[in-house]
Amino acid sequence: MGNNIFSYFIIFLASGLFTCTRNGISYKNSNITVEEIKSNIEYLASDELMGREPGHPGIEKAANYITEKFKSYGVKIIPATSSYFQKIKFEKAAPPHEASLSFLNSDFRQNENLIQIAGPSLTKNLEFVYLDYAATAEEYAGISLKNKILITKLGGPGLTGRSIFNFSDEKNILAQQNGALALIEIPANTFDWNGLASYFGHTRTILSNPESKGSEIPHFYLSDPEEKITEKLKNNSDGAIRIDTPGFASDSFYSSNIMGFIPGTNPEKSDEFIVLCAHYDHIGAGLHKRGASVADSIFNGARDNGMGVVALLAAAKHLAQNPAQRPVLVLALTAEESGLQGSRFFTTNSPILLKNIVFALNNDGAGMTDDKIATLVGFEKTTAKEAIRQGVKQAGLLAASDPVPHMNLFERSDNISFAKLGIPATTMSPGFHQFSGALSEKYHKVNDEVDADFSIDYLHKYSLAYAFAAQAIANMDNKPEWVDGEKYQAAASELYKND
Ligand SMILES: [Zn+2]
Repeated sequence: MGNNIFSYFIIFLASGLFTCTRNGISYKNSNITVEEIKSNIEYLASDELMGREPGHPGIEKAANYITEKFKSYGVKIIPATSSYFQKIKFEKAAPPHEASLSFLNSDFRQNENLIQIAGPSLTKNLEFVYLDYAATAEEYAGISLKNKILITKLGGPGLTGRSIFNFSDEKNILAQQNGALALIEIPANTFDWNGLASYFGHTRTILSNPESKGSEIPHFYLSDPEEKITEKLKNNSDGAIRIDTPGFASDSFYSSNIMGFIPGTNPEKSDEFIVLCAHYDHIGAGLHKRGASVADSIFNGARDNGMGVVALLAAAKHLAQNPAQRPVLVLALTAEESGLQGSRFFTTNSPILLKNIVFALNNDGAGMTDDKIATLVGFEKTTAKEAIRQGVKQAGLLAASDPVPHMNLFERSDNISFAKLGIPATTMSPGFHQFSGALSEKYHKVNDEVDADFSIDYLHKYSLAYAFAAQAIANMDNKPEWVDGEKYQAAASELYKND
């Protein structure tokens, strides 16, 4: 999960040979062996893949591995596309290591009491103008900002939460339009400066958007915990300022979602696609990353989300060998760890009409602490609950509800990219009871690897649970829906309305 969950025990597995009849459908043997589960997880979480970071060679090896598996299972390319790859262009925006401002006898340095949040280089002696919030056209009236630096309070009067930062973007444009060469905003002292610095002071991966060129002027946040500078500015609304920054470094790169298609058997349900997805990226490698050491600097991501990808491969193989009534899309998604970007790109550039996608069963987690269960985030939200329960049971596990609803995991993995557009969605995770303890000891750490307490037998059972649950959903008599009262129902009515 992109900020999330989950460790292990050994389970005896009855060699995967299940045959049962339900709803008139006979499930054949799964043909998924413990050996292949083991080799899949060992490869995907190997040091060779260097933590599967988008833009690095390791994730490309993972992508090729998954694609070769899809091919070998007979999983097809989505009709009207030309390959398994959905190529996505990203930008990596890296803030400067050093930048400084000096004005009113005070000095400010990047990552201390200053953060450049966007924009290019600028080294010059200039003049500044201070305008309270600079939120309205009236505030700019009669004031020349041409070739000057604008200093304001962060946000606008009465704004709270995210709207503050959205408005910060608007203000950047206003400042540019008024001729300013840079924008400096001062957050109220109630802001958590360290939180801001940690979020904005790091390299960010964003979808490349040809329409947005990003900030064309340097844009800073400045710390003023005792409001000394703000007080001085009230009495000195203009003056001299020295600015020195090398600006943001930006680098573009490509990474791909991998998409496969398994046709359904019932022509009446041929436009009722079921999406099966799991993110295959992780957070990479490097001594600069938190928790890395000379002894180990590779974030293997065996649990997050190697397990999910192994389960996705198992489901792809199982369904290709035992097609369900509904067609199935199998998606290995990239860039989840940098903000669910692969799934968002998929849903905004889907080769299948979104209204023809009736359910998304995502797979993501941070590890297993209960080898008797599979945990379902969003279990109660849709009418697919019973099908999922039956599928999980077929694999010898029990389907358990999200034990930490207050952590809002439903909005922290790729399922949300589908749900917020109205598509009923649920995430399956390895069994856990709390997002702490054994789970957080490995979550996003270098020791999330195939180690002594990683149970291959559990992963086998878990992968079958995912495959069988997927099959049961794809065979449901009625289309899965949100249960009454779910907040995504309105979006669903809009998406699935007859037109
Ligand atoms: Zn994950």
